[in-house]
Amino acid sequence: MESFIIGTGGMMPLPNRNLTSMLLRREGELFLFDCGEATQISLRQLSLKWKKISVILISHTHADHVTGLPGILMLSSQVERSESLVIIGPPKIKEYIETSRRVLDMHINYPIEIREIAKPHIPQEIYRKEGYRIRSFPMRHSKICVGYSFEEDARPGVFLPEKAEDIKVPKGPLWGKLQRGEKVRLEDGRIIKPEQVMGPPREGRKVSYVTDTAWRHSISSEISGSDLLICEAMFCEELADAAFEKRHLTARQAGQLAAQAGNIRRMGLIHYSPRYTDHELKMLQKECRDFFPNAFLCRDRMVIQIPYRNGEKTGKDAN
Ligand SMILES: [Zn+2]
Ligand SMILES: [Zn+2]
Repeated sequence: MESFIIGTGGMMPLPNRNLTSMLLRREGELFLFDCGEATQISLRQLSLKWKKISVILISHTHADHVTGLPGILMLSSQVERSESLVIIGPPKIKEYIETSRRVLDMHINYPIEIREIAKPHIPQEIYRKEGYRIRSFPMRHSKICVGYSFEEDARPGVFLPEKAEDIKVPKGPLWGKLQRGEKVRLEDGRIIKPEQVMGPPREGRKVSYVTDTAWRHSISSEISGSDLLICEAMFCEELADAAFEKRHLTARQAGQLAAQAGNIRRMGLIHYSPRYTDHELKMLQKECRDFFPNAFLCRDRMVIQIPYRNGEKTGKDAN
């Protein structure tokens, strides 16, 4: 699984900084978080096939997070595709997309399923498929806004041949059945359960996406345990008052949030104020690291690998 940083800017795109958006790739499936102006340019530069995007998750309907959507949908209309595209977001997202489609005369030749989060102030599971689930949870912004977490299901533990030998399960098809999680009956009548020959279940990976918000205590429990947290850090501490007025996080607060959440492996900062040059962003990193040392500055088109915590690799993710 890997995360592609589509853009890192807040409010307006700059010549060297696209608007905040992140794409997650897992086993060939793509998930796009927010879609500001010019998102499709970054996707193209990263050679990502937007026609493989299965879900688009929108945090809120401020222009810097949604104005790329009509362009993406328009482009998508020219591709062969049979699976539906799911677009999830807070109220008004449906009206925005349907109005754009109507006014721009878009003829899209595959189904688009828009799911508005009816009660965005309540943390909830909003999407599930075999192997993973996505939750939304409320931000504290000048408009209804949600953060998201993407979490893989736990996987069965690894098969331990020495345990199977210890309890005299004959090698062969019975081992295969146990590995697939089935109970087996031996010739001597004993019933062997998979957990007798398997290690403990292995945790899946978790990625969280948090922007735009002022400090909100409840966010920390939702992002806890993230292998990667992508989090807004719009302002330095000296602009804390302005940040609160506009309902945004300072870098220091982002660090505090991650530290308070606990068990977060790494944190990438995004949604920088256009007032800061690329060089000045180091201040944001420093202020955040005072609380959360494993923070780094996201840069446009950065690719971040998300390995399992125990270092194991799986077939499709092993590059
Ligand atoms: Zn924004
Ligand atoms: Zn906003």
